[in-house]
Amino acid sequence: MDARQTVIRRLDEKVVNRIAAGEVIQRPANAVKELLENSLDAGATSITVSIKFGGLKLLQILDNGHGIHKDDLEIVCERFTTSKLKEFDDLKAISTFGFRGEALASISHVAHLSIVSRTPNTQCSYKASYLDGRLKEKPKPTAGNVGTQITVEDLFYNVPTRQKVFKSPSEEHQKIANVITRYAVHNSGISFTLRKLDGETALSKGVSVKTQAGATCIENIASLFGRSVGGELIEVLQEDKPFKLKINGYVSNANCSMKKMVFLLFINNRLVECSGLRQALNAVYQAYLPKGGHPFVYLSLKMDANNLDVNVHPTKHEVRFLHEEAVIESVQTAVDAALLKCDSSRKFYTQK
Ligand code: ADP
Ligand code: MG
Repeated sequence: MDARQTVIRRLDEKVVNRIAAGEVIQRPANAVKELLENSLDAGATSITVSIKFGGLKLLQILDNGHGIHKDDLEIVCERFTTSKLKEFDDLKAISTFGFRGEALASISHVAHLSIVSRTPNTQCSYKASYLDGRLKEKPKPTAGNVGTQITVEDLFYNVPTRQKVFKSPSEEHQKIANVITRYAVHNSGISFTLRKLDGETALSKGVSVKTQAGATCIENIASLFGRSVGGELIEVLQEDKPFKLKINGYVSNANCSMKKMVFLLFINNRLVECSGLRQALNAVYQAYLPKGGHPFVYLSLKMDANNLDVNVHPTKHEVRFLHEEAVIESVQTAVDAALLKCDSSRKFYTQK
């Protein structure tokens, strides 16, 4: 055997980028979350997502936000290009959703990506297509309204191992619908639409999530989760000064009991998971609900960005923050207080 036979080879740059991108975007719903956040960052009031084959064949998002300038279209898909962060210290103060400049770049490494966008001060839209983070050719003028349309086709076409993971497009559709539903509740007033462009029957085709511009949060919860939830909500509104924590949202009362807990959690306007908080809140409800019953909980927490680790990996939905136990306790107390108040007011009412 040749002792000098080497086994370590440098991977091709494209392959490296593809692997990195596959970690940021693991499934269509991750891409949808990133694209929704971009539209919201751009100040959109109307956002429409259209999908085919669970978003794997086609994922298109149209918004009426402030658009992307023609000159920015040239670099928007390179890694670490962003209009939202200049210095590392800005991470601390960042209030917009995106900050890494990685989402569009990642998508362009694992899908065919094109952008049509128009800013308010231009007469027409510009269309640009990307491959592996690079613009394919100079942006071309085209007709269109102010805002941005992003089209993602054949997601993971060049990552066969990823493709194999997706067994059912309807499961991916459901995950996308979940993400849009949550953002729609949290951003009431903005109209969200999810359209499924393919389907065997007329019924399986069409709009699957829809909220109206100007609708209230309660109206959105009722239309997305049903009247049985929407009619039994109590408001939570509390401020915990020592931790600079603001808690607000809507939770179901003792009349509403679900088979599984529905928990929508936003921290500083970002959709996140926090299993510790989920369990703690479910436990609060055990005193109010029949055995085996679970609540609906939508909470928006605002906390000092210094207490929050925003620099977590995009696919790590599980959030981390300082003083976690104290924060969880504070939220538990706020929800319990809201439930107690509503319980006693009901008793008071029936006694009269
Ligand atoms: P980030 O959101 O972290 O900045 P992205 O890759 O998601 O990174 O987006 C890169 C840049 O593209 C954003 O900073 C923004 O300037 C621009 N952009 C992306 N999507 C939109 C959109 N829908 N409307 C306006 N600008 C957008
Ligand atoms: Mg972004």
